[in-house]
Amino acid sequence: MRRFGRFNVSAIEAGRLGLDGGAMFGVVPKPLWSRTNPADEANRIDLATRLMVVEDTTTTIKRRVLVDTGVGNKFPEKQKAQFKITQPEGGVRQALATAGIDPDSITDVILTHLHFDHAGGATTARDDGYVATFPNATYHLQRRAWKWAEHPTERDSGSFRTADFQALGANGQLHLFDGPIELFPGVSLIVSEGHTVAQQLVLLDGDDDGKLLYCADVMPTRAHLRLAWVMGYDLYPLTTLEEKRMLLAQGLEEDWTIFFEHDPTLTACKLAEKDGNVVVGEELKF
Ligand SMILES: [Zn+2]
Repeated sequence: MRRFGRFNVSAIEAGRLGLDGGAMFGVVPKPLWSRTNPADEANRIDLATRLMVVEDTTTTIKRRVLVDTGVGNKFPEKQKAQFKITQPEGGVRQALATAGIDPDSITDVILTHLHFDHAGGATTARDDGYVATFPNATYHLQRRAWKWAEHPTERDSGSFRTADFQALGANGQLHLFDGPIELFPGVSLIVSEGHTVAQQLVLLDGDDDGKLLYCADVMPTRAHLRLAWVMGYDLYPLTTLEEKRMLLAQGLEEDWTIFFEHDPTLTACKLAEKDGNVVVGEELKF
């Protein structure tokens, strides 16, 4: 945990997964990406599912906001092996408890989007169906992301599982909205359209500590700071490229902290400039 302006910010390591290195780096040739992200025998690279918990220490209403929920524990063994999924036995709830956070004290869950490695932990399987993993939380999501996940295309349907989100719509815990918004004081959501439809990124305003961007799948790892290193998974890669150009320029100018959801080793960093490119500056832990 680290103080960031008015917030306490905690990084939660909710497990690891392995995804195809080629799909993670799009048009970038393997000899380049494998230098920083070595592939295993099945061409998978090691990725974290690093969530973020944010608490505003200045308000009387105590909110504890979780950003994304990891893979969850609904995958059958075969797919767990396919995606090299490892995580605590008790999933995201246990990951939080290990970090000293009572899972039932989570008041809000921000889902950046509904891909299984972000929303898998949102619901939990019970004998009688699926229930919200966080019974006391409101789940916040872009309406268009929800609509898309209900009817994805053949190209991206493998990234969604209805079991991760359908139950949320049924039990009144879902807050769907449209476009960018300041959800809570100092907690803003930016909408991004390159990776999938209506992904939302979290931008914290930490007053004197500047701003922190939870950049989710716009820049899943530090290697993706390079503009052309865009995922093959992305629906609109040129949109991602322009979004990155804009975010990195603003981030560099305003000295933002960048928080990585999937980087295997780096939680967060400041940005620096080298030979005209934006690169990792000071490395930070949360
Ligand atoms: Zn994604």
